Amino acid sequence: MTRVFSGVKPTGHLTLGNYLGAMRQWAAVDQHQSDALFCVVDLHALTVDHDPARVRRLSRQAATLLLASGLDPELCTVFVQSHVDEHARLSYVLECVATDGEMRRMIQYKEKAAREQRRGGSVRLSLLTYPVLMAADILAYGADEVPVGDDQAQHVELTRDLAERFNQRYGHAFVVPRATHPKVAARVMNLQEPTSKMGKSDDTGPGIVYLLDEPDVVRKKLMRAVTDSGREVVYDREVSPGVANLLEILAACSGGNPEALAGVYESYGTLKRDTAEAVVEVLRPVQERHKELCADPGHVEEVLRNGAERARAMARPTVDAAYRAIGL
Ligand code: ADP
Repeated sequence: MTRVFSGVKPTGHLTLGNYLGAMRQWAAVDQHQSDALFCVVDLHALTVDHDPARVRRLSRQAATLLLASGLDPELCTVFVQSHVDEHARLSYVLECVATDGEMRRMIQYKEKAAREQRRGGSVRLSLLTYPVLMAADILAYGADEVPVGDDQAQHVELTRDLAERFNQRYGHAFVVPRATHPKVAARVMNLQEPTSKMGKSDDTGPGIVYLLDEPDVVRKKLMRAVTDSGREVVYDREVSPGVANLLEILAACSGGNPEALAGVYESYGTLKRDTAEAVVEVLRPVQERHKELCADPGHVEEVLRNGAERARAMARPTVDAAYRAIGL
């Protein structure tokens, strides 16, 4: 059976981008068709300036939202990264295979490091080595597939390189994984700056729809989405990125396709209104289930405890084998 691994970072509240680009497929497809693990990657949340209590709170919230989005602990393994030591253990070994040069070429590193510097902060070493830890997350479980949004493609590519390099140098230890992306909405853009992705770690802004936004807040954000000075509804990411983003969100939420939907709308106003309603409907069941789960924190706790136990048992033999292979 195909082994699948993916995760979310508790650096902020989860967004519509996380949901459409990743979580929805995990619940609808991956957990049914494969042996899947989904992880709240909390170690990754320490790579930028963070507040310890907030990270703890957001980790719990992210885990609850994973379950609310439909992940079923009977069908897949849901856990928190820091509960399983194997991630950090393997990461160090992979740092001995990765090079400084390839880390510095990572687009997300360059963007996030520049942002930290603009804010007058210093860049944590862990921000540079973050993709190695991500490689460890994936390789520890022998994952064949990594279902992610487009923004993670480069990191999965690096994971493949590290696995191949390790296997070549020290003998076969790792499965070489591949990234899979959703057909529509693989990159949901910020509603106010449609040339940047909707990222939860950015400052809370009117351009980001959060999974727990109230329906009226969702409507307001979508009605205020930036479009352009034209009038015609066309699907063209280059010329009209704001409109293309709305069409993709609507397509992802309603099951249509963005080109066909472009032909249906004559004004930006109706496109925005229908997109807002489609998003509200997609979020409704997630929010309802989230509320139920919040009323039973012991259940979430137990799911995470069992998940970590299962994950540990899966990762340990692979990481032990990698330690032996590299000479430890
Ligand atoms: P971020 O901190 O940028 O929200 P995470 O690293 O937690 O992202 O991402 C969790 C998953 O959500 C990943 O598979 C990522 O590719 C996906 N994702 C994040 N933002 C978007 C987006 N705007 N559009 C599509 N997918 C996204």
